[in-house]
Amino acid sequence: QFITFEGGEGAGKSTQVRLLADALERAGIEVVSTREPGGSAGAEAIRSLLVTGAVDRWDAHTEALLHTAARRDHLARTVWPALDRGAWVVCDRFADSTLAYQGYGHGLSKDFITGLTRLAVGDFKPDLTFVLDLTVEEGLRRAGGRGGAEDRYERMGTAFHERLRQGFLEIARNEPDRCAVIDASLAPEEVHQTVMRAVKGRLLG
Ligand code: C5P
Repeated sequence: QFITFEGGEGAGKSTQVRLLADALERAGIEVVSTREPGGSAGAEAIRSLLVTGAVDRWDAHTEALLHTAARRDHLARTVWPALDRGAWVVCDRFADSTLAYQGYGHGLSKDFITGLTRLAVGDFKPDLTFVLDLTVEEGLRRAGGRGGAEDRYERMGTAFHERLRQGFLEIARNEPDRCAVIDASLAPEEVHQTVMRAVKGRLLG
């Protein structure tokens, strides 16, 4: 099974990836935890191009192309081989992030992004996607403490982050069978319990 976590800055995706992977491993399942952009040697190299420099280092279309190139390498080298041998893959961000950031956030057309994704990925989709939803204010407050080169997006205006949030919520509304929205303002352990109920209900049930 392929499970993804989506959401804006500070929503707690990486914590939830770790908690879910640990729980599945305790249940005897082989788990590969991974992330985007990144998750394979080539995709991590592309990630460093994407997350360093000014937020407008890349033309928005080029940025979407780089995310998509990284995604293809990540799938080919990490995700698909793991799924083929029966492992579960738990991923921090996937194609929904490209639609949310480069589409809803930076204004690229949905057709451009879904076309790119289809070209690189075909019909492949996560079995289950968690959208960790948080107010923009709380997300930026949490993310603000992290520092480092990767927080450059946190300096984008509130309007950008609000478009992101609404984008993720709309993606989830459009695909309710795949997506579950979770209130990420709850304590990490409570969010994790909600995640586990959904995994049990939808994938293990
Ligand atoms: O989730 P993570 O912090 O690892 O993401 C790395 C950076 O890339 C973040 O600043 C995130 O906002 C940004 N990003 C992006 N477009 C995507 C995915 C992530 O701008 N499609």
